[in-house]
Amino acid sequence: MKVEIIKCLEDNYSYLIIDKKTNNACVVDPSEHEPIINFVEHHNIKLKFILNTHHHYDHVGGNKELKKMYGAKVVGFKNDKQRIPDIDILLEDNQIWKYENFESKIMHIPGHTTGHICFYFPKNKLVFTGDTLFSLGCGRIFEGTYEQMYNSLNKLKKLPKDTKIYCGHEYTLKNSLFCLEHDSFNKNLEKKISKIKLQLKKELPTIPSTIDEELACNIFLRAKNLKDFSKLRDLKDNS
Ligand code: ZN
Ligand code: FE
Repeated sequence: MKVEIIKCLEDNYSYLIIDKKTNNACVVDPSEHEPIINFVEHHNIKLKFILNTHHHYDHVGGNKELKKMYGAKVVGFKNDKQRIPDIDILLEDNQIWKYENFESKIMHIPGHTTGHICFYFPKNKLVFTGDTLFSLGCGRIFEGTYEQMYNSLNKLKKLPKDTKIYCGHEYTLKNSLFCLEHDSFNKNLEKKISKIKLQLKKELPTIPSTIDEELACNIFLRAKNLKDFSKLRDLKDNS
């Protein structure tokens, strides 16, 4: 299994998960169709599924065209069936979704939106966290409560430490400034910041991160309790 990172729009990432044996693939959160089609056509990939973490336009914008072009099936959370365009397969919390070698555990992680899910691939040690967990940050709370977001992040914190995190946006550098402001003596954070700066200098993504790195560096995962977390989220919103 291979993950290809596809840059979309301003700062979005879509991901292609490719089974190298069959060249079958799933795309996670296609913000737009063109960059996905380009990659698929150049690499002879068979796009089978579109996996959506949530309904925002910058995560589902490519659904319609990709479905039309490849007959790919749209997979998303059942409660969002009205607002995920062209949805075919409805998922539930804790469900295992499977197709050939693709096997993902669905985790409902509300907060950014009420219907946000992540796709966790235990065998491949990867998780697609959409706009809930970013590298060095977390998503804005648009529809859910602070408590929901806090609980969702706690769920993600419990994944194995070597799990790779693929999130919806390249926000890492900007997030790092906020972390530094509130956690200025954190050596691990310093190390992580050097690493991401090096990546960005080479015009490469700072993604994937890992659960381990985020536990050590992400101020939102380091919050001691709901009250601390909520305060940080408010400060970040107003920063
Ligand atoms: Zn979003
Ligand atoms: Fe987004």
